[in-house]
Amino acid sequence: MRAQQRSRRVHVVGAGLAGLAASLRLAEAGVAVVLHEAARQAGGRCRSYDDATLGCRIDNGNHLLIAGNRAAMAYLRAIGAADTLIGPPEPAYPFLDLATGERWVVRPNLGRVPWWLLDAARRVPGTRALDYLRALRLATAGADDTVADALDPTATIFRRLWQPLAVAALNTEVERGAAVLLARVLRESFGAGGAACRPLVPRDGLSESLVDPALARLASLGVELRWGSRLRGVDVVDDRVTTLAFDGGQEMLAPGEAIVLAVTAPVAARLVPGLGAPDEFRAIVNAHYRLAASAASPLFVGLVGGAAEWVFRKREVLSVTISAGDRFIDTPADELAALLWRDVVRAYDLGDLALPPWQIVKERRATFAATPAQLRRRPPAATRWTNLALAGDWTETGLPATIEGAIRSGFAAAAHLLRA
Ligand SMILES: Cc1cc2nc3c(=O)[nH]c(=O)nc-3n(C[C@H](O)[C@H](O)[C@H](O)COP(=O)(O)OP(=O)(O)OC[C@H]3O[C@@H](n4cnc5c(N)ncnc54)[C@H](O)[C@@H]3O)c2cc1C
Repeated sequence: MRAQQRSRRVHVVGAGLAGLAASLRLAEAGVAVVLHEAARQAGGRCRSYDDATLGCRIDNGNHLLIAGNRAAMAYLRAIGAADTLIGPPEPAYPFLDLATGERWVVRPNLGRVPWWLLDAARRVPGTRALDYLRALRLATAGADDTVADALDPTATIFRRLWQPLAVAALNTEVERGAAVLLARVLRESFGAGGAACRPLVPRDGLSESLVDPALARLASLGVELRWGSRLRGVDVVDDRVTTLAFDGGQEMLAPGEAIVLAVTAPVAARLVPGLGAPDEFRAIVNAHYRLAASAASPLFVGLVGGAAEWVFRKREVLSVTISAGDRFIDTPADELAALLWRDVVRAYDLGDLALPPWQIVKERRATFAATPAQLRRRPPAATRWTNLALAGDWTETGLPATIEGAIRSGFAAAAHLLRA
């Protein structure tokens, strides 16, 4: 079987997590893979880099995984990087309400029976067990319902838990975000038991966990990597893709050869005529502050009622995330740095510490907008061309645009081609 697969060749275009995952699965099955990446580095929207202003290495954005991200965990095991993630031994989500100064930690128990709901010390202050069970309404939400339609936006639990989680997971405001997508996220986290909710972050950086070990594994499997190889056009004849036009030259696809297109939605829509793909996006704004906070402080804190939404403690920086952050896209960076620093200081009890060196990173099109209308535009991995499969967090994964979704999409594209 492996020898037979070797005679086939697949071009994977895009070395983000979707393309890396597809390449991994194909190469493990013995397929000859050529991985093309337009940039000079892999990882796409999930990577680390040296920031000259801060004088240290940072992640392009804060990424949180949970232990229940089964495709991401399988991927990490396959590239030998499962031990590069860190997190508390039991699920724990620390919050601070900036309006009242109250702090709490949401602490689901590890097992499947959610007895933690009966323990006020593990819940959000001001909520009862019944409030959590009301989220079961999401399971019967209609395709057009938004998060704010399906849940009660006036409830304390909404402001202090569902809204922060929904905005972070969907990268879309609750008034527009699709309830069915949040239902899926909660089913795979809280619904799968506390062990699945355990938060995990990279110990060193996104690239050190998710990208560099993957490149090493792909190299050991004989995958050929082509940097600066931007796909410009695709020729199709009948039901097949026949030619790929890259910056560096053309590739003719012999019978049996195939392509996984693992680029972003706008690029895929430009390259493939008639392809339906999400076309509305949301920004993510990140602020990085050069400060090594105490190792005894939490790995992250969720903020209610602030401009900053989540603050992450990294080795050399404290780092803020604002999801669906389009309202801040035009705010001058120095204003934003000062505004968010006020929330960071409170989150990590830094007293009157002066603003340290900072960096603001605005990802204008961080993910597609997870609205009901945009969900209908997500295509599956299989296309009407027999040798073209799609991958990317924007394809129909059933999940929001996340690491888990991107990796699942890569696995799905590879599985489709291996079946074909
Ligand atoms: C700031 C930020 C914070 C986030 N936080 C989280 C989080 O907390 N948890 C989580 O799970 N997810 C998070 N995400 C989402 C996650 O990063 C993405 O879902 C995931 O990285 C998408 O991977 P991808 O492979 O689908 O796409 P991409 O990473 O965009 O990869 C596409 C690749 O294709 C390449 N490419 C484009 N055009 C061409 C071409 N013509 N030819 C060749 N190559 C091309 C690009 O250079 C890129 O490398 C966050 C995203 C951002 C931006």
